Order: sequence, then structure tokens, then C-alpha cells
Amino acid sequence: MIKSIINAITNLFSRPATIDYPFEQSPKNKEARGLILYDVEKCIFCLNCEVVCPPGAILFTQDRSNFEFTYNYNPYLCIYCGECVRACPDKAEALSQCDELTPPTDDKGMNDRWFEIETEAAASKEECKALKKEQKAAAKAEGEVEQNG
Ligand code: SF4
Ligand code: SF4
Repeated sequence: MIKSIINAITNLFSRPATIDYPFEQSPKNKEARGLILYDVEKCIFCLNCEVVCPPGAILFTQDRSNFEFTYNYNPYLCIYCGECVRACPDKAEALSQCDELTPPTDDKGMNDRWFEIETEAAASKEECKALKKEQKAAAKAEGEVEQNG
């Protein structure tokens, strides 16, 4: 009985266990896993994230004219495993995980175009590799001509 009275009095002055939603948001769980956020300014284009992503939700396409990479992320394929964040080099820290689980509705086009992006990612990287090889061979041949001439 006395214990109940003490509890009642203590509860009168303690912080409520509930929150004033929607004016107050639930505290974020540090272990929460959600959608991936990317910062192009910090990316060093090592492509580690693309390699480790189990469902292939991250793909880089490559520009054939300047060999620059473009990051593509499919939030509908993402399983929130966090492998990409762990694989991103510490010096880059270009990826992070937010606690949002629902893909933005305006990103639906990304899912619809994903097969196209997948094909382009593979083809562009392959073609850029061949182009670089050609450029290297041409530069070497030019160097040899100059030396012999
Ligand atoms: S969290 Fe997992 S599934 Fe999602 S993009 Fe990163 S590696 Fe891929
Ligand atoms: S792992 Fe990080 S630095 Fe490397 S390509 Fe992905 S986002 Fe960029």
C-alpha cells in the first residue's frame, strides 16, 4: 500500500513515458537501419559500395566522354543491411543510413528504370575500360614514333 502511494507520488513528478506526437518525434534509435544517403562531394568513386551490395541496389554508370561515374540507388531494392556504409572508406564517409524505411514516392521512376540502369552500368563501364585501353595504346605508339623519329 505504502509502496503504491510512493509510486503514485513519484509518477506525478516524473517525465511521462509517452511523447506528444505529432508535435514531438520519437527518439532516434542509434542501431536503426534505413535508407541510404549519399554525398557526391565526399565520394572517391572506389565502387566498394556497388561491389558489396547484396541485392545490387547501388550501381555506378560511367560517362564515355570523361569517364566520370554517376551514383544510382534503388531504394525499392535496398534491404537496409548497411554493408555499403561499412565498405565506404573512412576517409570518404560518403554514405550514411537514415532511419527512414519508406522510399520517397517521387523516386518511383528509379525503380521503373532500374533494368535500364543495370544494363547501362555494365555496358558503360566495359566500354570505358576498352576506351582507356585504346587511349593508352595510342599514347604508347605515339611515344614510340617520337622516339624513333
Ligand atoms: S543498405 Fe545494403 S541493400 Fe541497401 S544499398 Fe547498402 S548494401 Fe545495398
Ligand atoms: S564506397 Fe563510398 S567512396 Fe566508394 S564509391 Fe561508394 S560512396 Fe563512394
